[in-house]
Amino acid sequence: MRSKIVAGNWKMNKNLSETKDLLSEILDKLPDTEAEVIVAPTFVNLSEAAHILQTSEIKVAAQNMHYARNGAFTGEISADMLLNINVDTVIIGHSERRAYFGETDELLAKKVKAALENKMRVIFCFGEELDERKAGNHFNVVESQLKNGLFELPAEAWQHIVLAYEPVWAIGTGETASPEQAQEMHAFIRKTITEAYDASIADEVSILYGGSVKPSNAGEIFSKSDVDGGLIGGAALVADDFIAIVKAI
Ligand code: PEP
Repeated sequence: MRSKIVAGNWKMNKNLSETKDLLSEILDKLPDTEAEVIVAPTFVNLSEAAHILQTSEIKVAAQNMHYARNGAFTGEISADMLLNINVDTVIIGHSERRAYFGETDELLAKKVKAALENKMRVIFCFGEELDERKAGNHFNVVESQLKNGLFELPAEAWQHIVLAYEPVWAIGTGETASPEQAQEMHAFIRKTITEAYDASIADEVSILYGGSVKPSNAGEIFSKSDVDGGLIGGAALVADDFIAIVKAI
């Protein structure tokens, strides 16, 4: 079901005591909101975060997972391990996973499938690089990432998918897509899903924007009709900024 979502991707930041401090400050300052608020701390602190947040409205997500149920995959984490600590949402396909860890569309499709088979919800990230936008190729790139990552899924799987359009040139750079650029791409994404499936699936999926969202630009970006919220990196590490972004929705 389409809903407003603000999700914080903490990446490889915050040790255990910092995680507890940040969560406690977010909990103290969290306003009443209709938006779903999600935080994604690093794996080693997920269990503690899930425990701290279990009686709150804030949900916990993992930043990645492996597609196999278990086995000889040193350093990896399975869906079963996440579910066992009450984490049922996972970010898949973040541009840093694609760029630094060689995650291909094919691998990401396997991860998405595994997460859904385990009844998890997926926040699927995708977006073009700067040279692809400069070359006017951004729509093709996004279409192909969606097609390769998600379009083998049956229609009913889409109720467990959240999309996060994150132009790589805007992630952690301070440069944000303009609200118009975000809206244009989000509308294109809905059109692409309509063509591959149908309009009801395209209308019902939540599409988040990610890329240097901060308190000063969140309101304008979130005001666009096809933008359902944000995936927040740097600003999610500062409680006041994250809370201001939640308020902006
Ligand atoms: C992200 O990593 O998903 C992200 C959007 O980062 P930032 O907000 O720092 O650009």
